Amino acid sequence: MYDLIIIGGGPAGIAAAVYAARKRLRAVLITEEIGGQSSVSEGIENWIGSPKISGADLAKAFKAHLEAVKGHVVALELGERVVSLQKTAEGFAAETKKGKAFTAKAVLIASGAGRRKLDVPGAQLFENKGVTYCASCDGPLFGGMDVAVVGGGNAGFETALQLLAYAKSVTLIHRHQEFKADPVTVEKASAHPNMRIIRHAEPTEVVGEQFVTGLKYKDKDSGEIKEIPVSGVFVEAGVIPNTGFVEGLVELDAVKRIKADPRNQRTSVEGIWAAGDATDELYHQNNIAAGDGVKALEDIYLWIKKR
Ligand SMILES: Cc1cc2nc3c(=O)[nH]c(=O)nc-3n(C[C@H](O)[C@H](O)[C@H](O)COP(=O)(O)OP(=O)(O)OC[C@H]3O[C@@H](n4cnc5c(N)ncnc54)[C@H](O)[C@@H]3O)c2cc1C
Repeated sequence: MYDLIIIGGGPAGIAAAVYAARKRLRAVLITEEIGGQSSVSEGIENWIGSPKISGADLAKAFKAHLEAVKGHVVALELGERVVSLQKTAEGFAAETKKGKAFTAKAVLIASGAGRRKLDVPGAQLFENKGVTYCASCDGPLFGGMDVAVVGGGNAGFETALQLLAYAKSVTLIHRHQEFKADPVTVEKASAHPNMRIIRHAEPTEVVGEQFVTGLKYKDKDSGEIKEIPVSGVFVEAGVIPNTGFVEGLVELDAVKRIKADPRNQRTSVEGIWAAGDATDELYHQNNIAAGDGVKALEDIYLWIKKR
C-alpha cells in the first residue's frame, strides 16, 4: 500500500509528486502523459521564472524535475488512466484502464480538464480536417484562408486574435448577445479589418467534402439557418473537468468540478485531496494548478504523519 496516489501529470500533479518525493512519502503518480493541457501551446509567457517557454519544453522540464527527485520514493505509471476510485477499509483503491490496481492511504486528484467538443453534425467527422480545438497548434495551417471561431469567451477572442495574424478572415460566432470575454480583448479583435462577429447564433452543422468548406448556424433572432464559407472551425466552447471516475464519491459542483477547500485542497471525503483544473478553483492557470498541488501535499504530509 502506498501513502499516496496522485492522479494526473499536469502542473498540479507534477508539483505534488516533486513535493511527495522531497517529503519521502511513498507515492505513485498515475497519468496518461506529463505536461498537461498547455503542452500543445507554442509559447507560454506567464510560467513564473520563464519569460517564454513552449508547452513541449515545459512538459520536458516537468519530467526532468520529477526524474531528478523521485528516486525510489515516487513510482511513475505513465500512459495509464484511472477509471475507478473506491474507498476501502484501509484507505482507497484505484483501478486503471489497463486493469492495474493500486491502494493508498490518501489520494490527490489532479486530473485536470479537457475541451468541450462541438456537438453538431459534421463536427466529429471533420475533426482534424478543418475542425480543431487548438489554435496555437493548427492556426498556421489556415494561412490566407477564411476561418470561424465558435465561442465568445476570452478563449474565443484570444483564438480570433491569434488567427487574425495569418487567416484571410475570422468570423466569431457567439450564442448570446453579450460576450463573456474581457471588453479590452473584444475591442482589440473587433477593431481588426478582417474580423467579423455574429452574435446570438448557434452552430448547427459543419459541412464539407474531404475537408471543411463551411459552417451552418441558426440566427437566433430570425430562426433562419445560414452558412458561412470557411476552411477552418476553431472551437472554444469551454472545458470539461476529468472527474467522471469520482462521480458519486466526492462532492462535485454543478459543472462536475470537485469542490475543494482553497486553504488546503481537501475534498468532501477525508483522505482525498484535489488540485488544479479538476477543482472548483475560480482561476485556471499553470501556476495556480502547481500551487494547489503544493498546498495539497503540505496538508497530506501532516495528515499522514498524524495517523
Ligand atoms: C491550449 C492551452 C493553452 C494554455 N496556455 C496557458 C498559459 O499560457 N498559461 C497558463 O497559466 N495556463 C495556460 N493554460 C491553462 C493550463 O494549461 C491549465 O490551467 C493547467 O494545465 C491545469 O493543470 P492541471 O494539472 O490541473 O491539469 P491538466 O493540465 O489538465 O493535467 C491533467 C493531467 O491528468 C491526466 N489525466 C486526466 N485524466 C486522467 C485519469 N483519469 N487518470 C490518469 N491521468 C489522467 C492528463 O493526462 C494530464 O496529465 C492553457 C490551456 C490550454 C488548453
